[in-house]
Amino acid sequence: MTAPHEHDSVSDPAHSDETGHDWSDEGGALPDGPATLGAHTRGGPHPPNRNHVHGGLVDPRTAFPKIEPPEQQQPEPGLDQKLEPRAYRGEHTYRGSGRLRGRNALITGADSGIGAAVAIAFAREGANVALAYLPAEQPDAVEIDKILDETGVKVLHLPGDLADVSYRNTLVHKTLGAFGGLDILVNNAGKQLSVEDIDELSDEQIEQTFAVNVFATFALSRDAARVMEPGSTIINTTSIQAYSPSPHLLDYASTKAAINNFTKGLAAQLGPKGIRVNAVAPGPIWTPLQPSHGQPPEKLTSFGHDTWLGRAGQPAELAPTYVFLASNESSYILGETLNVNGGRATP
Ligand code: NAD
Ligand code: MG
Repeated sequence: MTAPHEHDSVSDPAHSDETGHDWSDEGGALPDGPATLGAHTRGGPHPPNRNHVHGGLVDPRTAFPKIEPPEQQQPEPGLDQKLEPRAYRGEHTYRGSGRLRGRNALITGADSGIGAAVAIAFAREGANVALAYLPAEQPDAVEIDKILDETGVKVLHLPGDLADVSYRNTLVHKTLGAFGGLDILVNNAGKQLSVEDIDELSDEQIEQTFAVNVFATFALSRDAARVMEPGSTIINTTSIQAYSPSPHLLDYASTKAAINNFTKGLAAQLGPKGIRVNAVAPGPIWTPLQPSHGQPPEKLTSFGHDTWLGRAGQPAELAPTYVFLASNESSYILGETLNVNGGRATP
């Protein structure tokens, strides 16, 4: 366990990337500057398009580039650092306004993808963040740490395997020990391995997928509910797969349906105690989950092209939804699943 970094104040630092552009002037998840930076930068973060129309309008079809990633494969878990093109997690644009100031958050799968975007946004909103991830993802976690370092909040690293009961049952306790409280739990870690035929689906994979996606979500929610005070929130990451399962993701899609159902049941149980439970259901988002056996490699080149917006989403486009569900602004929303999917029919 790495000792948390402590700083005096929450800041919103200026960032410039290799283009020389100062992204910090733009603010928000969807920046609205001039249309000058369309293409992604190889090896660096994936900057959003600047398709300014007027009055701050941003066209959601082109707010971020339509990517056609080359066929690629990484061992599981994938690294953000090896994604081609890189994913965009809001590091140059997310601007906080103190909406989570003084709160303490535990985020699983926080090293990369959606979890990393949420960690950046939460920290810039003033929350202390505990980051859980697999030890093999340390290089990504170090990269996120550098971004968080400038926010001035406390950061706690909790590497380990969520399938390991003895590890996951320490997470809430360690967060409490470091921060003195837990107000936000984000169950975001996910295991997704594509298998074409149920005949090839091993018992081990089924059990591991359920252990990471479902059992850990149950266990962490239980441990969090024991210590959370009224006003606290639990946010679970489910998926479009919960309602619209891909045939090659039988185990994964089933876990996401379970998470949706769990979210509604637990919300009914904890609502009377003043703790709100909700879920976010992403559609196709460009993250390391996909090229690390999450999809057949040949499907990556057109990943997300079948949404109504015609492109994959970027992790940065998810973070504001988690901030909203964690903040007081969503005080009357419980047991809800917010779909952030670029347009697809949902129940
Ligand atoms: P990601 O690979 O960046 O994040 C997934 C994280 O899960 C990993 O970083 C890892 O830290 C964690 N994880 C996996 N196995 C683990 C284990 N055994 N122990 C501990 N942690 C483990 O990908 P992402 O797409 O940002 O995924 C975040 C969540 O979003 C997942 O729950 C995923 O199912 C969900 N989701 C993603 C998409 C998408 O298109 N990317 C769509 C719908 C839902
Ligand atoms: Mg990761």
